[in-house]
Amino acid sequence: MSDPIERAVRILSASKRALAFSGAGMSAESGIPTFRDPGGIWDQFDPAEFGTTGGLVSMIMRDPGRIRSFVEETLGIFKKASPNAGHRALARLEEMGILRTVITQNIDDLHSEAGNTQVIELHGNIYRHRCLACESKRKIPREDLLGRVEAMLARFAELDLESLASFLPECTCTGRMRPDVVMFGEAVQDVPEAFAAAEDCDAMIIIGTSGVVYPAAQIPHSAAARRNIPIIEINPREHPFASISEVSITGTNAETMAEIMRRLDN
Ligand code: NAD
Repeated sequence: MSDPIERAVRILSASKRALAFSGAGMSAESGIPTFRDPGGIWDQFDPAEFGTTGGLVSMIMRDPGRIRSFVEETLGIFKKASPNAGHRALARLEEMGILRTVITQNIDDLHSEAGNTQVIELHGNIYRHRCLACESKRKIPREDLLGRVEAMLARFAELDLESLASFLPECTCTGRMRPDVVMFGEAVQDVPEAFAAAEDCDAMIIIGTSGVVYPAAQIPHSAAARRNIPIIEINPREHPFASISEVSITGTNAETMAEIMRRLDN
């Protein structure tokens, strides 16, 4: 059988605890630019500079206008983003008893919003916040968080560093909370749980990742080295996991997953 979509459908229909491993390409069709695709916000804002706590703080002191543009641009993207057909397909696969876990490098919350219940977020979640004093974590409702950012932007020109901090959500211990996302140089989250889930799955779908960010990219390799599980990779431009994949599909996430679901449902 040479049709790669048909082979993917065969693998999934035989699976009871598949795992999806996703990267930024998963959310490209939700309007969230990837790091490496041209023309996105990361062409204007270097992730190495805007993705470190030190970089952000020094930018607020040196060039607050650039922070404002970055926050404005990001806010616009997150306000419009919603789960695409690929996210919805993974939620439906869970409902059908085919897929058990999603491991994602994304911070956008779209897998949970689509309905998946076991989502391991290696790089955190923009809506979950962590107290800078007591370390406890809390998810801030989407509208509340985006409203706070909008209010902060409206008064940005008159704010100093201290008053900017007053826009951060307050913890029950009265400490301020920061977004629980992994900046460059910070520890990746839930790594043992991710490796354990990958080693326990009976099939894997890898969607929209360049496979260059470690230790995330090690997870599929480690699962493949331990057990002979069928792996499906979906990416319109490259297949960095081709050496361990049974099926490499050249196509976008939303289009390919919609077609897989159409055939699975028939
Ligand atoms: P990446 O930017 O390195 O690679 C994106 C990959 O997605 C590329 O291989 C590209 O060919 C592929 N792609 C592009 N459009 C696609 C589509 N429509 N369907 C399927 N695949 C598509 O992203 P990465 O590998 O996830 O690693 C970079 C880091 O970027 C991660 O750490 C992640 O945390 C962070 N990031 C997250 C988001 C998000 O939360 N949505 C967005 C940008 C970056």
